[in-house]
Amino acid sequence: MSVLLTGGLGYIGSHTAVELLQSGEDVVVIDNLSNSNIKTKTNIKKIASEKRKISAKNFKVYIGDLRDTNLVEKIFTENKIDSVIHFAGLKAVGESVKKPLEYYDNNINSTLSLLKAMNKFKVKNLVFSSSATVYGQAKSMPIYEDFEVGATNPYGRTKLFIEEILKDAYAADSTLNIAILRYFNPIGAHDSGLIGEDPNGIPNNLMPYISRVATGRYDHLNIFGNDYNTHDGTAVRDYIHVVDLAKGHLKALKKLRKNCGLQIYNLGTGVGYSVLDLVNAYNSVCGNKVKYIFAPRRPGDVDICYANVDKAKKELGWTAKRNLKNMCKTSYNFECKKSKLK
Ligand code: NAD
Ligand code: UDP
Repeated sequence: MSVLLTGGLGYIGSHTAVELLQSGEDVVVIDNLSNSNIKTKTNIKKIASEKRKISAKNFKVYIGDLRDTNLVEKIFTENKIDSVIHFAGLKAVGESVKKPLEYYDNNINSTLSLLKAMNKFKVKNLVFSSSATVYGQAKSMPIYEDFEVGATNPYGRTKLFIEEILKDAYAADSTLNIAILRYFNPIGAHDSGLIGEDPNGIPNNLMPYISRVATGRYDHLNIFGNDYNTHDGTAVRDYIHVVDLAKGHLKALKKLRKNCGLQIYNLGTGVGYSVLDLVNAYNSVCGNKVKYIFAPRRPGDVDICYANVDKAKKELGWTAKRNLKNMCKTSYNFECKKSKLK
C-alpha cells in the first residue's frame, strides 16, 4: 500500500515524503511543477536512501495536474493507495487577491477531482493542508481549534471552502477519516540542505526573504511595521520547523488508520516570536548579514498569531521539537547550498 502525496514535490510535501519513506511507507506523488522543481524528486530519494534502500516501487512521481481526472484515475488504478495527503494548491495571499478565479479553480477543483477518485477507489483516509489563515483576526491568543473561522482573502477562503467540502463529504460518508491540519508558519529546511523553501520570484514570506538577504541576493529586509502592540513593536507569529511539521503528518496518518472520523488540529509550536526575534536569531547563525529597515505595516497583517497545540499533543502524541535557532540554521544552510556560497 502507498500514501499519495498531492503537491509532494513542494516545500512541505517534499519533507513529508522524506519522513514517510524513511519510516518505511511507500510514496506516490502527483505534482504539476507549478511551484516546484523536478530535481526535488532526486533529492528526496537521496535523503531517504540514507535510511532505507529506495526503489521505483517505493517512490513514484507523476508529473501532471490534479484536476486532470483521467490522470488521477490512472494513478489510483496503477497503485494501491491506502491514504492521501493533499498538499497541492496555490498559496500566495497577494496573488490570490489579483487572480481569485485561478485560486478557486486550482484549489477547489483539484480537491473535488481528488475526492471523486478517492470515492471511486474506496480510499478512506485523507490529510488536508489547511492554514492558520482560516482564523482571520482571532479574538484572543492562543488560538484553539474551535475558534470562529473567517478568511480575509481568496486564498484563505479556498482553505475554508475546502474544509466545508470535507465536512460535507464526511457527513455523507462516515467511513471517511479526515485530518484537517491548520499549519501556523512553517520555516526551516532539511538538515541535509538538499530540500527547503525556494519560491519562484520575489518571496512574499519572511524567511525566504531573510535568507536571500543573508546570501547577498537582496540588499535588505523590509520589516513591515514596528508599531504593533508586541514586546518590540514587530508582529508575532508561531514559526514551526518544516521537519517537525512533516512528522506531524505521520502522526495524523497513524490516527486516521485507527478510524478517527473528521478531526481538526493546529500544528504550531504554541510560542510566538516577533520579526525582530527571527532576524536576530538568523543573524546569530549567519554572522550578522541580515540588514533591515522598518517599513509601513503590510495591509491585512495581524499583530499576534500563535496556536494552542494541546489537541495535537494529546490526540496525536505530537509536539514540535526544534527551536528558532535551528529553523534559522537549516534555512541558511539550504540557501547557501543553493547559492553555492559554501
Ligand atoms: P508549495 O507551493 O511549495 O507546494 C505545493 C505543491 O503543489 C507545488 O509543488 C505545486 O507545484 C503543486 N501544485 C499546485 N497546484 C497543483 C495542481 N493543480 N496539481 C498538481 N500539483 C499542484 O507549498 P507548501 O508551502 O509546500 O504548501 C503545501 C500546502 O500547505 C498548500 O496547500 C498550502 O496552502 C498549505 N500551507 C502552507 C503554508 C506555508 O507557509 N508554506 C502555511 C499554511 C498552509
Ligand atoms: N514580513 C516582513 N517582511 C517581509 C515579509 C514578511 O516584515 O518581507 C512580516 C509580515 O508582515 C508578518 C511576518 O513577517 O508580520 C510573517 O509574514 P509571512 O508572510 O511569512 O507569514 P504570514 O504570517 O503573513 O502568513
